[in-house]
Amino acid sequence: MKDVAIIGLGCGAYTAAIYTARYKLDTVVIGEVEGGMGMSAAEIGNWPGEIEIRGPDLMEKYKAHALSFDNVEHKVGRVEKVEKSDGGFTLSLQGGDTVEAKSIIFATGSNKRHLDLPGEDEFAGKGVTYCATCDAFFYRDKTVAVLGGGDSAVEGAAIAAQVAKKVYLIHRRDEFRAEPFWVDKVNEKDNIEFVLKTNAVEILGDGKVTGLKLDTPHNGSDTLEVDGVFIEVGSIPSVELPKQLGCEMDTQGHMKVDEAMRTNIPGVFGAGDVTSGSNHFAQFATAAGEGAVAANSVFSYLQSGQ
Ligand code: NAP
Repeated sequence: MKDVAIIGLGCGAYTAAIYTARYKLDTVVIGEVEGGMGMSAAEIGNWPGEIEIRGPDLMEKYKAHALSFDNVEHKVGRVEKVEKSDGGFTLSLQGGDTVEAKSIIFATGSNKRHLDLPGEDEFAGKGVTYCATCDAFFYRDKTVAVLGGGDSAVEGAAIAAQVAKKVYLIHRRDEFRAEPFWVDKVNEKDNIEFVLKTNAVEILGDGKVTGLKLDTPHNGSDTLEVDGVFIEVGSIPSVELPKQLGCEMDTQGHMKVDEAMRTNIPGVFGAGDVTSGSNHFAQFATAAGEGAVAANSVFSYLQSGQ
């Protein structure tokens, strides 16, 4: 039986693993996507110590650091079920493998929110995507729309504008919630046009995306001709596994944790975007901090003999 199973392979998870390793805890870190959401960050300018670094490069460093310890086992796979068992918990992985651990840290992150517009599913992968920074590269000299007003949308629009001929940034309000750093970047670009106080209502196409219908006419038309639509309207925490154990959720659907990253279930902790921690401020720096706190709490929990 492992001392701790950390579920997730993103920033919170790898940080927790670095700390549990140094507490000499027998650790397994398991997840489906190595690097998690960090893999889709084109440029990170707020990770202390790096003026600018690409998300995949930063995540590669995290992983290498976590795996530099002999007492950290790394597994890539889908955890399908988590159950309470004698002396701890049993994790069942897709393919039939099981893992036993005395404690768990959920660092399962979040999944991109969908808008469920007519045409969204039909053209998914045929012009509709949920990661502007990952997919903008495929739209060289094309016209694209980015939906949303947070960091993901505004950063995504700035990155897309580096390759696309034209970018419409469509947001339901008249001000962005993104960091002023990114708002300045989009303001500087001649090929980004803001479409504010407007919602997309339908994605149009014929085999692939050809346009976007709006609820408010823009320059006299309620349809924009676009080759791609990047939906960047936030994320939904991945709470299926914590729910199986009876972990409480907050009103926004995040796994509820206290200041020590403890859940309501003894032996179960959390870190990163899945949790209610750090005032819901989902950043690399906060996920890393939460991973460190969760690891410290696991250490105290195991030392106390539960
Ligand atoms: P977010 O901050 O939750 O923003 C989501 C945006 O989508 C908001 O502007 C929201 O509009 C809009 N929206 C939500 N539901 C909508 C709907 N049904 N129809 C139309 N618009 C809708 O999400 P995010 O931008 O993905 O960022 C998530 C977290 O990751 C944040 O903590 C962010 O700081 C962090 N992040 C950071 C960076 C960075 O530091 N470079 C990059 C990416 C993400 P309203 O504004 O009207 O609510």
